[in-house]
Amino acid sequence: MTSRTGILLLVSGPSGSGKTTLCRRLADEKEAHYSISCTTRPAREGEIDGKDYHFLSKEDFSTRIEAGKLLEHAEVHGNYYGTLKSEVLNHLAVGTDVVMDIDVQGAAQVRDCPDEKIKIALIDLFVMPPSEGELLARLTGRGTDAEEIIALRMKNALEEMQHWPKYSYRLLSATREEDYLNFKSLILAERLRVSRIL
Ligand code: 5GP
Repeated sequence: MTSRTGILLLVSGPSGSGKTTLCRRLADEKEAHYSISCTTRPAREGEIDGKDYHFLSKEDFSTRIEAGKLLEHAEVHGNYYGTLKSEVLNHLAVGTDVVMDIDVQGAAQVRDCPDEKIKIALIDLFVMPPSEGELLARLTGRGTDAEEIIALRMKNALEEMQHWPKYSYRLLSATREEDYLNFKSLILAERLRVSRIL
């Protein structure tokens, strides 16, 4: 039997693109490990520490940066977000695929990472909302954020969307089911890639 090293499926896209739902579903179906990020953002209602994010104080976040524990980190919407190396590297080594939902700044850092194991593992995908109108509807419809936060997210989303040409793959969001089919097809095809076969 052949074995292989894991895929690092990096997914970016503005809030409201549906990227988190895609990543979570892939993990729920046991197709990949979901990399749980650290953040200094307060937990939203219903979010669970250690499941949705590792919710940290700014001091704890800085301590982890200084200890070299983060693969990448960035400031997004005024809060800090970062990926723990432990959420990624060990899984890849044993052939488990990892899906990470991170912003465009973090994606640039992962792409520039000199670690060969990351380079071999990485595929990056940008998820685009179908239109600006639909994006606004999705951001408003979530119902968890105040008006000024929605306005800030809309502004950031439009800026973030300029970055899609830096990614290897782009998914233009349609329906949830179509999106998931395309998303899963990407990882299924990548599992056949020769460079990861041991
Ligand atoms: P939210 O606060 O809505 O959960 O996430 C806000 C943004 O932060 C999203 O674009 C999400 O992809 C990004 N994000 C989440 N985790 C990380 C991370 O570990 N690193 C980086 N760079 N961005 C992240």
